[in-house]
Amino acid sequence: MKDIIVCSPKSLPPDLLMRAARTAVEINPHNHPPIEHLTRIIPDFQLTPQRIALLTKKYWGIGGVRLTVSFLDNPPSDLRKRILQHMNAWSKTANVKFVETKSKGQVRIARDQTGYWSYLGTDILHIPLREQTMNLQEFTMNIPESEYHRVVRHETGHTLGFPHEHMRKQLVDKIDPEKAIAYFEETQGWSEEEVRAQVLTPIEESSLRGTAPDPKSIMCYQIPGELTKDGKPIIGGKDIDGSDYAFAATIYPKKQSTTPMKAKAATGSRR
Ligand SMILES: [Zn+2]
Repeated sequence: MKDIIVCSPKSLPPDLLMRAARTAVEINPHNHPPIEHLTRIIPDFQLTPQRIALLTKKYWGIGGVRLTVSFLDNPPSDLRKRILQHMNAWSKTANVKFVETKSKGQVRIARDQTGYWSYLGTDILHIPLREQTMNLQEFTMNIPESEYHRVVRHETGHTLGFPHEHMRKQLVDKIDPEKAIAYFEETQGWSEEEVRAQVLTPIEESSLRGTAPDPKSIMCYQIPGELTKDGKPIIGGKDIDGSDYAFAATIYPKKQSTTPMKAKAATGSRR
């Protein structure tokens, strides 16, 4: 059976964490973690600057997101167009727009590294211009449309600052904790505690969004087979679903109509 490539989370090197956290809060003050809430629910919470930086979200500003996109490995124009089209799928409900540029874009895509990944939101501003911020390994026009939905839209979600949605307990139970801790320590430099919080904590205990967890979310964690007890990968959501679109709309709201009634009617008549 062909090995299915899943998303490998990508975070900045430790020496950039603090600077990137400052950038994130400058761009969107809501990115700052809710310190008071955290010290209340975690009694021995250590309030180090490092810890605060790790918990800082990476959303773009709420006034609307317009990001330029360039390609580092000169793909044909039909491929570039197709990728852009799927990136802009998020604009159905959110005030976001990806625009191709011939010069160095804020989002830089290449296909030469292993796996599918993207840095998170405003973190992409701290990646050297010669490096990609998103990797779509060996993506060509021959890749099935379903993979564009599953992969390009998921990685674009990361570029918009959306983290992985936590998983249901039955999915977390499939992960081998020791393998996961070793894997993320090696690939991300995460401590055991971080891996437990990021990967091994099921949604019943904590949901990132503070809303009902959605296992079909396009941002559901994708886990390679080498980390699961049965060796099978966890694929996650296959496309942006209703709750993803609703979530994106709350983070990046489109211009509101003058009255709530009008806004409601406009939403109902779409598509
Ligand atoms: Zn991912």
